[in-house]
Formats: sequence, C-alpha cells, structure tokens
Amino acid sequence: MNNQAGKDKRCDTCRSPLDHCRCFTVGDKVRFREALDPGDELCLFDLIEDNGDRLMIRLVCDLPIRPVKVVRRADVCKA
Ligand SMILES: [Zn+2]
Repeated sequence: MNNQAGKDKRCDTCRSPLDHCRCFTVGDKVRFREALDPGDELCLFDLIEDNGDRLMIRLVCDLPIRPVKVVRRADVCKA
C-alpha cells in the first residue's frame, strides 16, 4: 500500500482506486470520468440523490440556480 496523493487514492470502503469506486453516498463530491458535455471534466458536482443505476448530481458553482443532471452511475467517480 503506498500513500501517494492524487490518482493513487483508494476508496476506504471497497479499496478500489477512486476512478473505479462506485460506492457513492449522498453528499459526496463527484466528477465525470469522461466529459459528456465540453467542460464537464473540469466540474465538481454534489451527489443529491442515488437511484441505483442513476444518480442525480448538482453542479458546484456560484449560480443562483445550480444545474442538476441525471447521470449513469458508471459515468462518474468520486472527486
Ligand atoms: Zn468504493
């Protein structure tokens, strides 16, 4: 087990690299593994609802109304 920061971080629950971990909890910060829309790969989202296959996520930003997206569980990872 190495303790390097960043890409080598592992999930405390499943011990997978964070890129592969799918044990999300509402309130987690998540990001897209690959951007669906341009710029998405730079964005952070709050997980606001876990529907199993689908997750509802809300963009972390300064807008008065923060955009919400529904995404496939496989498309995001912990940020
Ligand atoms: Zn995990």
